[in-house]
Amino acid sequence: MKISDLGEFGLIERIAPLFNNLMTLDIKGIGDDCAVLPMDDKYNLVVTTDMLIEGVHFLKDKITPNELGHKVLAVNLSDIAAMGATPIASFLSFALPDNTDVQYIDDFMSGYHSLSQKYNTPLLGGDTVKSDKNLVFNVTLIGKVEKEKVRLRNMAQNGDIIAVTDYLGDSAAGLNAILNDINTPTAENLKKKHTMPHPHINEGLWLSNQLGVNAMMDVSDGLASDIKHILRASKKNASIELTQIPLSNDYLKYIEENNLNKYEFSTSGGEDYCLLLTISKDRFEEISKRYHNKFNKELFNIGEVCDGKGEISFFNNGQKVEKSKDGFTHF
Ligand code: ADP
Ligand code: MG
Repeated sequence: MKISDLGEFGLIERIAPLFNNLMTLDIKGIGDDCAVLPMDDKYNLVVTTDMLIEGVHFLKDKITPNELGHKVLAVNLSDIAAMGATPIASFLSFALPDNTDVQYIDDFMSGYHSLSQKYNTPLLGGDTVKSDKNLVFNVTLIGKVEKEKVRLRNMAQNGDIIAVTDYLGDSAAGLNAILNDINTPTAENLKKKHTMPHPHINEGLWLSNQLGVNAMMDVSDGLASDIKHILRASKKNASIELTQIPLSNDYLKYIEENNLNKYEFSTSGGEDYCLLLTISKDRFEEISKRYHNKFNKELFNIGEVCDGKGEISFFNNGQKVEKSKDGFTHF
């Protein structure tokens, strides 16, 4: 059997139980955006790690080193945000071919440092090794969260509204523009969303302070894939109304200009790094109003949680549609 037969999540499920005997009840291990460990009487520690590899996660000539330094930290900050936590510090490891320009790493560190500064997160260590050919960057981030405020994927309740904190699909459309060398002003805006994602740290912190905000995670693989993690962990089903998925003006323009399906990138694209959360129905209106006042952005209602075992149904104007490899088709 090869790794490809198992898939990423199959492999993780194979690894996880090996350590059950070493776990204690006050630790949350593999399976959420961060691991959660007790820190002191008031706080839990949260820890996450994510790796970016040249040729797999980025193309060296399609992203500037400054943007890459921002992105590798942003994707980790996004997992801290998903727990409702505050970042504390980061660790950064490089594997570099020895002909890498020093200027490249200086520019990478400049992007990394700017975002660290923004979220008051010092770099405390890492590892530096030689690589044969490709650049590899790995970040480990630690954060803290008040014990009762941590938001996990298994906290969704029947009847919850499913919400997202940003437009979906911009990043995937940006990647499409990068790969197809499309350079219109619209495409340039979308490319920026792909190369310089905004980690929703302040939004996650604010949301974790609201009674009625239940499960939370970040959107890294795409809505259709990510929501399944909440549903499986919470043992619930969900219905998503495609027409309620928030799409930016740039996205809609790009999709039309390039004759693409508007639900493909917005449900399956990934790398939007906004938050996906569930909120008690009776609290949604009030929370979304205050969220708007606070951030001058919308909390978008895209569907509902119901009883079940981890299944997701998509609707288009109330009509059930099926998601297949080629997009959405009516039954
Ligand atoms: P995210 O997209 O939020 O970073 P992933 O989908 O990468 O999360 O990982 C899902 C879960 O599996 C996380 O809890 C992560 O820590 C864990 N995980 C991923 N790879 C490994 C590994 N090689 N060993 C142990 N745990 C892993
Ligand atoms: Mg995540």
